[in-house]
Parts: sequence; C-alpha cells; structure tokens
Amino acid sequence: MLKILAAACALAVAATATATAQTYPTKPIALMVPFAAGGPTDTVARSLAQMMGKHLGQTVIVENVPGAGGTIAPTKLKNANPDGYTLLIAHIGMSTAPSLYRTLPFKPLEDFEHIGQVVDVPMTFVAKASLPPSDFKGLVAYVQANKDKVTLANAGLGAASHLCGLLFMSAIGADLTTVPYKGTAPAMNDLLGGQVDLMCDQTTNTTSYIKSGKVKAYAVTSKQRVESLKELPPASEAGLPGFEVSVWHGVYAPKGTPKPVIDRLTAALQASIAEPEFVKRMLDLGSNVVSKDKATPEGLRTHLKAEIDKWTPIIKKAGIYAD
Ligand code: ASP
Repeated sequence: MLKILAAACALAVAATATATAQTYPTKPIALMVPFAAGGPTDTVARSLAQMMGKHLGQTVIVENVPGAGGTIAPTKLKNANPDGYTLLIAHIGMSTAPSLYRTLPFKPLEDFEHIGQVVDVPMTFVAKASLPPSDFKGLVAYVQANKDKVTLANAGLGAASHLCGLLFMSAIGADLTTVPYKGTAPAMNDLLGGQVDLMCDQTTNTTSYIKSGKVKAYAVTSKQRVESLKELPPASEAGLPGFEVSVWHGVYAPKGTPKPVIDRLTAALQASIAEPEFVKRMLDLGSNVVSKDKATPEGLRTHLKAEIDKWTPIIKKAGIYAD
C-alpha cells in the first residue's frame, strides 16, 4: 500500500513538473541585482533581462536590492519561493564573500540553484580628473606618499571594488581611508564630483567616463590589454606583478526550483548571450560573454567552486575582512 502511495506521489510530482515546464513562465520574473541602479552589475542585468525576456516570452524586471557589499540580495534569494519567478544576477562577490565575511547568511555552492555564467569583465583603476599622477607607476608612488589623505571608494564592503582595493593596498603597502557606497553608480558620482580620489571598478561602468575624460584612468586588472581601452596597461605590467582581478557574473535561482524551470532558464540564458546585439553591447563595455558551456548550471557551479578555492587563501593570507 505504502509503495503504491509513494509511486502515485512520484507520478504526481513528475506531472506537476512537466506542467510547470510547459506553462512557465506565466507572469513577470524578477531579476535581483545586489547593487544600486546605474552600476556595472545593473548594466549587465538590464541588457540580459531584455534578452531573456524576449526568449522566455515574459517580462524580466530588474530589482535592485543593494547593501552589505552585495550580500543582502543573495540572502533574500535564499528565502524566496523556488518557483522560477525570483532570480539573482551576482558577480565574483559570491566567491569572495565566504572568506571576506566572518559570518555569512548563505552558502553560495549549497543554498542556490545555479543557472549559468554570463560575462567576464576586467576592472580599471580610475581617479578623479584632478588627481596629479599621469601613469600607474606615478599613481602608486603618489598613493604611497599621500596615504593619509588619499581616499578609495568602493561599492560596499565585500564588493568587487572593495576586493580590488584591498588587494591594491596590500600590494603597495598603504592603508587608505576607504569610502563604501551601495554600488558603483553612487561611488562614481562622488568620484566625478571629486569628493573621493580613487576607485577600482568594472569597465562596464568606467569605459564611458574614461573615454569622455571625466575620470583619469591608469590601468586594467586583466592580464592582457582590453580591446576597447587599448591605451591602458595591465597593472601586472605597470608595477604590480601578478596583480589580476577578473569579475564574472552568474545567474542563480532559489534552491529547489524545479529542474524543468532551470532548464528553460538555462536555454533562455544561452540564447541571450548568443544574440549579436548583446555580444556587441558587452564588448563595447570591455566585457566578454562566456562560451556556451559556461552558461550552464555545471559551468557556473564549477567556476564558483574554483573561484572560492582561488580567493580563500589569497584573502586569508592578506588578512582582509569585510566586517
Ligand atoms: N562594481 C561593483 C562592485 O564593486 C558593483 C556594482 O555596482 O555593480 O562590486
């Protein structure tokens, strides 16, 4: 009797999953962004939402949930309904938060369904237009000589800009005053206004300001030069050997989201990043869409694990913490 009941239950679950897959999505989907509107993650999210909406036949609405260096949104995702209507796009912070935060309310590898990677983005060292140094070596010397007065902006404790800033300070042996914001957009506003001096942030947001000369740019954090910012040397070649930070983005769903829904989302993600318009938009911002095999649950999980394993010893060795 019990066996018959279990079999009936399994059948019912399978039937519901199939029905969900056939009808999903029937209403708009929320895509949470852990930082303020107008910043790099938000820019990637808005382009992706438009493309995924097209391929899913539903509106994908970007919802900014900033705060705590990008850790509030994943915490909210952990507690969201696993029905495919609440998603999250997050960056490298998912792999650095476990070692940067002494207490973190979520486990990036275990508490979510992983949908796939989206883009890889280098970072840039940018400063207010009036900062005196004219090249990266000069910047390092200037910061070392003026460490009591140079201010370093970031998008919150635990954000990628915070991580880049911490690695920079540790590499040049200068402890600067850091100024945290709720995202790159408000940080950039203050850099443009000259209220803060320096920031390390994604090309997604800095490229247009660099090109228009509204900020001074010194170096990129990738190993190679960036096609759209060819004039900038990699920091590793301009005085900080081995310095490299690459920001990657992934899409997540709450744990327990039905497999057919994850499959549908993965297919929509893959179709989106193959759209020439999306590829070009990202390239113009110095970002590269990932290959198809990385835009998969396995691709994201594997990369997330590799990044956690890579960053944990570096962060521990540098003795840096977000809280
Ligand atoms: N670029 C930011 C960071 O430093 C986040 C953002 O606003 O997208 O993590």
